[in-house]
Amino acid sequence: MPTTEEMRAHLARIPNLTVCTGAPLARHTRFGIGGPAELYAETDSGTAFVAAVNAARGSGMATLVIGGGTNLIVSDNGFRGIVLRYRASSLAADGDRVTADAGAVLQDLVDFTIARGLRGLETLAGIPGSVGAAVYGNAGAYGHSISERVVCVRFFDGQKVRAFDNAQCEFHYRESIFKSHKEWIVFSTELVLDSADRATLRRAADDILKVRNEKFPVTMKCAGSIFKNFLLRELPAEVGAQVPPESVREGKVPAAWFLEQVGAKGMERGEIRVADYHANLVYNAGAGTAADLCALIQELKTRVKQRFGIEIEEEVQYVGF
Ligand SMILES: Cc1cc2nc3c(=O)[nH]c(=O)nc-3n(C[C@H](O)[C@H](O)[C@H](O)COP(=O)(O)OP(=O)(O)OC[C@H]3O[C@@H](n4cnc5c(N)ncnc54)[C@H](O)[C@@H]3O)c2cc1C
Repeated sequence: MPTTEEMRAHLARIPNLTVCTGAPLARHTRFGIGGPAELYAETDSGTAFVAAVNAARGSGMATLVIGGGTNLIVSDNGFRGIVLRYRASSLAADGDRVTADAGAVLQDLVDFTIARGLRGLETLAGIPGSVGAAVYGNAGAYGHSISERVVCVRFFDGQKVRAFDNAQCEFHYRESIFKSHKEWIVFSTELVLDSADRATLRRAADDILKVRNEKFPVTMKCAGSIFKNFLLRELPAEVGAQVPPESVREGKVPAAWFLEQVGAKGMERGEIRVADYHANLVYNAGAGTAADLCALIQELKTRVKQRFGIEIEEEVQYVGF
């Protein structure tokens, strides 16, 4: 295996790739938590990105692809290996079809479609992060997910760039095939939308943004909801029966309901807190650490397991543990 400096020099020879050593990952995560990346490299060039991935994987060093870092918990020790970010961000429309690069900001894509009077992504307004990660995790809100509009995803499988249609992406609630093939990297996606009145779409998105900004202030160091919600039909019948019907929305039971029953609201450990108004919202109140964050998450999981016998599963992705 090459030394860090040898690998840095190797990556630095790839045109259009920016490389550095020891970049604090806290600066690349919305939690504001995380130690250094041994190497960090980013580019908006597909060619440079493929060259960097090949060099990284050929070296035997661990690799990790990140987007906006809004759904990551990075270890206080950082990441031993190469962190890569693909920043290509072009958006293009052809009638009701829109193509978006993985590095585009999801909100920019939402605004782009609304400005063209295209309906279908407006409920995703305010979900932070990149288009690539939204596909990877099938991001969604208000009863809709990006997968409903995806026609095709182009991705790099480590050998070549391939394209999958919607069915091949195996989308489910906050899931896609890309989650079980972490070596695959989403490059772009094509979506199909419907024509609609632009002003109506804008109003719908702005209403959602207003609600979201109250729940998740833009400066809050968090990952949105820490845990996935449950599909009612997948819960053990005796557990589902305990959930008041008014708490079930679109067939889903919010993880927050279980967390609330076990007294999560307002819990804290060091500078990591559970919001006192939302049991599934854990945030860094200042100089919190990953160690405290993980310990608090574990405590929440244990309490729910002991009381209801079910596992609550993190929506966030762990890095460097
Ligand atoms: C305030 C707040 C509110 C949120 N609300 C919602 C919500 O309502 N609904 C929702 O679904 N999510 C929500 N989230 C979670 C988060 O916004 C989404 O998961 C988002 O898609 C993550 O995007 P990102 O670019 O920041 O990804 P990152 O956090 O950087 O990465 C997340 C995962 O995606 C992988 N990844 C990133 N780019 C690629 C790529 N090109 N190819 C393959 N894998 C890739 C990474 O390896 C990692 O495993 C919220 C987060 C916050 C902070």
